Amino acid sequence: MLTEDEIRLNLQEVEQNIVKAAQKVGRKRSEIKLISVSKNNTADVLESAYNCGVRVFGENRVQELVGKMDYFEEKGIKDIEWHLIGHLQTNKVKYIIGRVAMIHSVDSEKLAKAIDDESAKKGAITDVLVELNIGDEDSKFGLGFDNTLEFIEKIAGFKNIRVKGLMCVAPYTDDPEENRQYFSKMKKLSVDIRDKNIDNITMCELSMGMTGDYMVAIEEGATCVRVGTGIFGKRDYSIR
Ligand SMILES: *Cc1c(COP(=O)(O)O)cnc(C)c1O
Repeated sequence: MLTEDEIRLNLQEVEQNIVKAAQKVGRKRSEIKLISVSKNNTADVLESAYNCGVRVFGENRVQELVGKMDYFEEKGIKDIEWHLIGHLQTNKVKYIIGRVAMIHSVDSEKLAKAIDDESAKKGAITDVLVELNIGDEDSKFGLGFDNTLEFIEKIAGFKNIRVKGLMCVAPYTDDPEENRQYFSKMKKLSVDIRDKNIDNITMCELSMGMTGDYMVAIEEGATCVRVGTGIFGKRDYSIR
């Protein structure tokens, strides 16, 4: 696990890279949100990141997310935005509604309905993204490219969720340029869907790009990049 100083240095490097990528294509830094992906790091590591100025965290497992939200809440720290970026089971929805800023991983009508129902129950409106399996990989969750518009039209009627855009986890690769094609397809699809002016669908967010490829993702239009390893170092999977 990294020290606070190491995390601070990593954050500076990521920040510089984001600025560089944005400048390259004439975008503003303010159009891009950096989500620090803190999964598999203990709460005190997140606190180090918080001390370095991080206010937006992404987690992929509900139990771990809730534990960390409770940790900060008990300390009276309230200015953190939490993002659920991993696969979500419908029976766990109830633990996070009203507590997370956005759910990035809506991939079925059943899940959208569960989020809508629970949000209605809590008097909340929940911002969500629709997850695509853009590389068409067997190992990944998410909708197919060709089914996404139809899916979004179906869930547009849910009154207690707001569909803000699309999310993807691109294939793992050592050469980020290989993923440019996928990011550009995501951008094109999001513009196509936005142009349909579907009620309740804004398509203003594109969550794509991780440690290996966030600069390319920004060049292709990402509004949220999810960076884990680049900030917190290599994950230790023995910690849960
Ligand atoms: C772990 C994870 C990330 C961050 O991955 P890194 O390669 O460590 O930056 C981003 N998005 C999702 C959905 C993840 O599960």
